[in-house]
Amino acid sequence: MNLAIPHHLENFIGGNFISPLSRQFIDNVNPATGEIYGQIPNSNEKDIAIAVNAAKNAFQHWSNTSNESRFIILNKIAELIDQHAEILALAETNDQGKPLWLSKKIDIYRAAANFRFFATGNMHFSGESHSMENVAINYTLRQPIGIVGCISPWNLPLYLFTWKIAPALAAGNCVIAKPSEVTPVTAFLLAHICKAAGLPDGVLNIVHGDGPSCGEAIIKHPEIKAISFTGSTRAGEQIARIAAPMFKKLSLELGGKNPNIIFEDCDWEKMMETTIRSSFSNQGEICLCGSRILIESSVYEKFKTAFIKKTSELKVGDPLDDTNHQGAIVSKVHFEKIMRCIEIAKEEGGKILTGGNAVKPEGRCANGFFIEPTIIEGLGPDCKTNTEEIFGPVVTLQPFNTIEEALQLANATSYGLASTIWTQNISKANIIAAKIEAGIVWINCWLQRDLRTPFGGVKNSGVGREGGWEAMRFFTEAKNVCIEF
Ligand code: NAD
Repeated sequence: MNLAIPHHLENFIGGNFISPLSRQFIDNVNPATGEIYGQIPNSNEKDIAIAVNAAKNAFQHWSNTSNESRFIILNKIAELIDQHAEILALAETNDQGKPLWLSKKIDIYRAAANFRFFATGNMHFSGESHSMENVAINYTLRQPIGIVGCISPWNLPLYLFTWKIAPALAAGNCVIAKPSEVTPVTAFLLAHICKAAGLPDGVLNIVHGDGPSCGEAIIKHPEIKAISFTGSTRAGEQIARIAAPMFKKLSLELGGKNPNIIFEDCDWEKMMETTIRSSFSNQGEICLCGSRILIESSVYEKFKTAFIKKTSELKVGDPLDDTNHQGAIVSKVHFEKIMRCIEIAKEEGGKILTGGNAVKPEGRCANGFFIEPTIIEGLGPDCKTNTEEIFGPVVTLQPFNTIEEALQLANATSYGLASTIWTQNISKANIIAAKIEAGIVWINCWLQRDLRTPFGGVKNSGVGREGGWEAMRFFTEAKNVCIEF
């Protein structure tokens, strides 16, 4: 198989590459250069209808395919992703703006890992049995749901797309999947990989388009019985409004405003190096980034000085240059949103300690969308800057005096996705971990990921969990069978 980065994308339906029925296309822009470099289908309910038909035709066979046969195909997809990692990484960087070294190290590596993990996971997944002594025995079947919808965002394009598709397929479902219209190319390349790996036609259908026309058509289709969605809280709310009255199974992985709590007694070097990453990796466009840094008052000034110094050393520019730490913001729209958030922070009385400006690199990236890593202080917990998701290279600093105050600040938003705690006192860390309102807590680390662990948020950060058995349970229906003796 020879993979090349395409300019003109097509939907992948029933094993065929086809244009949208409406012939409507959206421009695809490289955010590092600002140039339009391709077109992608803007599909609608008619395209979703033919994708659902293709999935229906494929379901009987796929759901009855043995676990071992499914394993062989999904594992082959993982191998082909690995073999084509260079081209996939370049496609991801062109689409998303992230540094090429990061695409290689994290995104593409993890996309293969997702397929490998769920390919093997399915070989070990089993239902439960409950004995009612001398009366009856129950066993619980875990059956595929049928046709499921998977919708993913632009920040970790192939990484999050495969995080949904792999367990859905492993569990025996047929899938209608939509990548973000902002970063569609690696999903298109994945379609070629799946075909080459021998995935039967119609088992995975990848349909491109925007949220209102293509995404909502997936949510509304009555034969798509479950939706796994990762994206903004705003879109999640809209999806829940449509899907809930149709009694669809829903997994919603939404936004965050994550606290990073730093105590005086932490391993300072490790904390500082990790906090730079947890603040600015992927231009701060990771739902797990710690955007509110809470620092024990006794070390507030020490932290501030060292953190400003390290942040101002970060290089921003051409994502193809491996010496740059930060690449481009994903789109002009998002660039403008972040710049507006920085203005709001100033209006709210925040002080910009470093950054705060757009960056204009010379050469090929002169028209790209770049922003300096930005640190803001002097704002209370209730302002917009500290309560609303910015999703860019912008963090705030707030001091605290006691564990109670740290917890109060940490829990002072409507979000509850992830959190980080830095202290050598493990009892203190455990007390906070138990009381913090978040689905994920890291103690003395960040983004340490074991794919078996439950992943997801509380409050406005979402409903449900992904990862490990949680994902396999989401993508199957439990059917209990009771036999009386
Ligand atoms: P978004 O909500 O705008 O879009 C996400 C996806 O949903 C895209 O494919 C989009 O086309 C589609 N979509 C949008 N509106 C839709 C609708 N009404 N119906 C159906 N589909 C719709 O989000 P984004 O801007 O692409 O991504 C950034 C957001 O994603 C941030 O809020 C970030 O925190 C969140 N995110 C969360 C996680 C997590 O695991 N919790 C991970 C990554 C990103």
